[in-house]
Amino acid sequence: MRQIRSQQVKSKRMDSSSSSSPSVNIDEADDLLDINLIIHMKSLISLMKQTLCSECNRLWDGSPSIKTRNGLYMHVEFICSNCGCITHLYSSPQVRDGRRREINARLELGATLCGLGYHGIIKLLGALNLPPPTQKQKYSETQEFILNYVEKCQEQSMIAAVEETIAETGGARELTVSGDGAWLTRGHTSVHGVSALCSTTKRPKILDTIWSSKKCIKCQSAGGLRHVNPALFKTFQENHKCQLNYEGKFL
Ligand SMILES: [Zn+2]
Ligand SMILES: [Zn+2]
Repeated sequence: MRQIRSQQVKSKRMDSSSSSSPSVNIDEADDLLDINLIIHMKSLISLMKQTLCSECNRLWDGSPSIKTRNGLYMHVEFICSNCGCITHLYSSPQVRDGRRREINARLELGATLCGLGYHGIIKLLGALNLPPPTQKQKYSETQEFILNYVEKCQEQSMIAAVEETIAETGGARELTVSGDGAWLTRGHTSVHGVSALCSTTKRPKILDTIWSSKKCIKCQSAGGLRHVNPALFKTFQENHKCQLNYEGKFL
């Protein structure tokens, strides 16, 4: 029961290799196990009580202790009341950078796709009786982290959509497209706008997007440095990826 997930995968692999059926695919079995479950803590304890303790070999009976919690991730210790043996459960794997848990990165990605902000997530998790997300600072850092991956996926998706549209229109590379845009606030006061070009095929897909900003918060924040510490301001300017890319009006 130590590290439940890896043992499940291992046992599935053993089943697959010992089976005489050629239809069982190890990769497919791994894919089926690569999912997340929402489990009530009492159900986990009930499961533990049906297992034998690996140390004293008696039916397990004891109590869980939450050793670490980071957003939706938990490290839970199940302590055998008979012999004190501890069984560890790590509820989510680490992502490649080794600093974040996959479930928290997925939560942020899902929330962004659904248009949910930090406070929206707190409400959603509260309604599901799940623990709150990571602290705001960590949450922002994770958003920066997943942005690179989202941008790469977006690029690949749009390239595929263009090729799909070309194929559907018989190979013509001059495509008819439709466009639409939106801005954050009504009227001409908005400082952020987005627009997208879509194909006009049977199943229209987004082929290109652009966002425009009349304001850069980082530039505004660093403005005071210009006179106080010109050298530091110069360093900021050299390393800063400015968001200011539009000067006209949003109509
Ligand atoms: Zn025991
Ligand atoms: Zn800037």
